[in-house]
Amino acid sequence: MARVAFIGLGNMGGGMAANLAKAGHDVHAFDLSQDALAAAKKAGCLPCDSAAEAVKGAEAVITMLPAGKHVEAVYTDSVFDNVDGGAILIDCSTIDVETARRVSDAASAKGLTAVDAPVSGGIAAANAGSLTFMVGGSKAGFERAEPFLSKMGKAVIHAGGAGAGQAAKACNNMLLGATMVATCEAFLLAKKLGLDPQKFFDIASVSSGQSWSMTSYCPVPGVGPETPADRDYAPGFATALMLKDLGLAMAAAENAGAQVPMGARAQELYEQFAEAGNGGKDFSGIIKMLDGKE
Ligand code: NAD
Repeated sequence: MARVAFIGLGNMGGGMAANLAKAGHDVHAFDLSQDALAAAKKAGCLPCDSAAEAVKGAEAVITMLPAGKHVEAVYTDSVFDNVDGGAILIDCSTIDVETARRVSDAASAKGLTAVDAPVSGGIAAANAGSLTFMVGGSKAGFERAEPFLSKMGKAVIHAGGAGAGQAAKACNNMLLGATMVATCEAFLLAKKLGLDPQKFFDIASVSSGQSWSMTSYCPVPGVGPETPADRDYAPGFATALMLKDLGLAMAAAENAGAQVPMGARAQELYEQFAEAGNGGKDFSGIIKMLDGKE
């Protein structure tokens, strides 16, 4: 079993680090929050006083931080100058493609190997070890990261070169935002046309309108499997996080010169929903705004 450094023990990182410890790794953990450190200790990790201390002697360094600026600062200030040359550096945070590529280039310049490995799946999947990882980096980097990631997830997929994991995540979540809005609209129109929502679900979930937003995360209470809609839209996946991901997707699209009208419209609608005080509500709760009830 290996010595692993884990930096960023929040809602997602806490469960992920715990799963690595459960798998038998020595997890040297660091977070700015003392509460997060205490929870990691309870879960079998070894708390450290700094990121620099955590990464010393580690075979793998895993970061799960809020945004690109945190990732770049931790790598520049603490990781690069303290880690062993043979360590694999794995950033699981959701960040912009440009920063992911810059971090990878900076690692290469120091003779280190870094991969971006953002996740799909929320806090429940992080705790259960059933995340999906989409990995950007060299084939050799992917092969070194995979044994660690597989202890925290059900699927680990090599997306391509540096930044490709973040590109996949941005595209996936843009699609999710747009399909959720479209699914909400379809249910509201069906209701106005006199259709029973359960009947519409039974039909659309086995027809060409089917999507994950429809079948696994239905925004209508009492229809389909249990979802945040059945808990008054408690998250789940908070609207503020969906907005963060749509912002990353729009920035990526602008840099790449891609037309993304549906993604842009989803971003506008989610901004409106969040500005009305719903940033902490599940993103499927946008159905209430589209129904004129928020
Ligand atoms: P969080 O805010 O709960 O956790 C982030 C942690 O990083 C905090 O505990 C914070 O104290 C710590 N931190 C910040 N700066 C630090 C530093 N310099 N050194 C050490 N620790 C530092 O966020 P989260 O929900 O765990 O999300 C983490 C990442 O995962 C984000 O990029 C998010 O977009 C992504 N993500 C979240 C979800 C979700 O459902 N929460 C799902 C998929 C992806």
